[in-house]
Amino acid sequence: HSLTTADAEPDERAVEAALRPRSLDEVVGQQRVREQLALVLDAARLRERAPDHVLLSGPPGLGKTTLAMIIASELGSPLRLTSGPALTHAGDLAAILSGLNEGDVLFIDEIHRMSRAAEEMLYLAMEDFRVDVVIGKGPGATAIPLEIPPFTMVGATTRAGLLPGPLRDRFGFTGHLEFYEPHELDRIVHRSAGLLGVPVSGDGAAEIASRSRGTPRIANRLLRRVRDFAQVRADGVVSLEVAQAALELYEVDEIGLDRLDRGVLDVLCRRFGGGPVGLSTLAVAVGEERETVEEVAEPFLVRQGFLARTPRGRIATPAAWAHLGLRVPQGAPV
Ligand code: ADP
Repeated sequence: HSLTTADAEPDERAVEAALRPRSLDEVVGQQRVREQLALVLDAARLRERAPDHVLLSGPPGLGKTTLAMIIASELGSPLRLTSGPALTHAGDLAAILSGLNEGDVLFIDEIHRMSRAAEEMLYLAMEDFRVDVVIGKGPGATAIPLEIPPFTMVGATTRAGLLPGPLRDRFGFTGHLEFYEPHELDRIVHRSAGLLGVPVSGDGAAEIASRSRGTPRIANRLLRRVRDFAQVRADGVVSLEVAQAALELYEVDEIGLDRLDRGVLDVLCRRFGGGPVGLSTLAVAVGEERETVEEVAEPFLVRQGFLARTPRGRIATPAAWAHLGLRVPQGAPV
């Protein structure tokens, strides 16, 4: 894992718990989704019924788990957590569903990675609050219907489009989370610094915010690393100078590119004249796995307009050349 990967590291969950907003009012940014969710929850309260199932979509680290926890706490209900990859057999899901109490909130992270069998069981559970437990195999198998108490399902996925239509249709509400603006990340850094008891200056926080790739998880992680630096090498205060020196040490540049990102651009421009170059060739040249280049480095480079994926291969954009301080050579495929 690099510092700028938006997925949570295994040992990060505990620290994150302390920094999670606990109510919709504490959530920074995401104005639209917050208002929409507040309405869904208020309507449910008014009708004294469990709210519609909620789907949250958006890249990792933007607050999907946080919102699921807030939904449960606003409803005063316990949250049951699981994830798509953990539901390989229908039985895994059946065990969870049959243990639910009325009004519970069930959160399934990475719901697009659930097995087909579990998915089909979920359709029925979401729509009719019922599961068919199949006993036996082959022609002798029988399905025993099992009623489950009304619950609220909250699913999270990186892209709503990854979900099969029938599953998507069973969510009454879909909230799309967007990358955060620098001023929002700035507020998040200040808020987290307050919770962690880290003194931070205005420009120190802004520096961390601007290198965080629009992602609260990364902002919080960079803050913790800069705090280390501030405590060990300086007077403990996260100032602009401390933030800059620390992030330079960790190789996170002014716009949030890390060593791998810059390596990809560097190889693409300097070695391959800006492309087009195939993914495998590019990966070998930077000494990384294909998947790492494709899934970790490229999405941000594409979003920043540094790299384009074309049918003939990857090419560097003029912005990439400029970021490396190079002039676009004649004949480069920009
Ligand atoms: P996801 O489930 O989308 O991967 P999380 O909900 O786990 O993201 O959020 C990652 C971290 O970012 C958490 O520690 C949380 O405190 C922080 N965070 C996310 N969204 C916000 C927000 N809107 N305001 C403040 N902190 C946030």
